[in-house]
Amino acid sequence: MLLVISGPSGVGKTTITHSVEKAFPGAVFSVSATTRPRAAGEIDGEDYHYVSDARFDELVVQGAFLEWANVFGKRYGTLRQWVLDRLAEGRLVILEIDVQGAINVKGQLTDPRNGRPGCCAALFVLPPGEDALLQRLRARRREGEEAIQKRFAEAKREIAAAQASGVYDGFVVNETLDRAINESIQWVRERLC
Ligand code: 5GP
Repeated sequence: MLLVISGPSGVGKTTITHSVEKAFPGAVFSVSATTRPRAAGEIDGEDYHYVSDARFDELVVQGAFLEWANVFGKRYGTLRQWVLDRLAEGRLVILEIDVQGAINVKGQLTDPRNGRPGCCAALFVLPPGEDALLQRLRARRREGEEAIQKRFAEAKREIAAAQASGVYDGFVVNETLDRAINESIQWVRERLC
């Protein structure tokens, strides 16, 4: 089964994603390729595969991506063969991707055994409110106020786009992290296929 998890920056989706991964034996997290620089504390090959623009272009031409998108002026892509191989092994494969990516993946995933739409569920993580989201972006201390305001505006757009897209099968509000993790795990358990 393919599980897509999306949500705006600062909403806690990475923590939720990794907790879901740990809760299901054999579940794997898909490491995307990106042209954005590695941030402090991130590990190449674990958080992302960090590639140059030229390498990303090559991968696009080769059809190596199941989907890719431009986010904040940098490109991010899901490696097709790796995902299909893990799905063929019968694993739960988790993609942490944006709304455009979710739309693209859901539109094209087919079950190789019968050509029917593949088994895929998409979950969107919401902040408890706009004020809380802004506070969390500031608390990460990753960027200056200007960049924070840009991410905040983008987050609001992304939430509206997610709600309008009809692509998400569920929404979880991260008011308390423990509760959001448990709700997400329960939500996935009910949809396993
Ligand atoms: P960040 O730079 O904060 O790690 O990620 C920025 C955004 O890009 C997040 O919304 C994240 O979910 C999204 N993203 C990460 N990898 C991919 C990918 O492979 N495809 C798409 N479409 N979005 C991605």
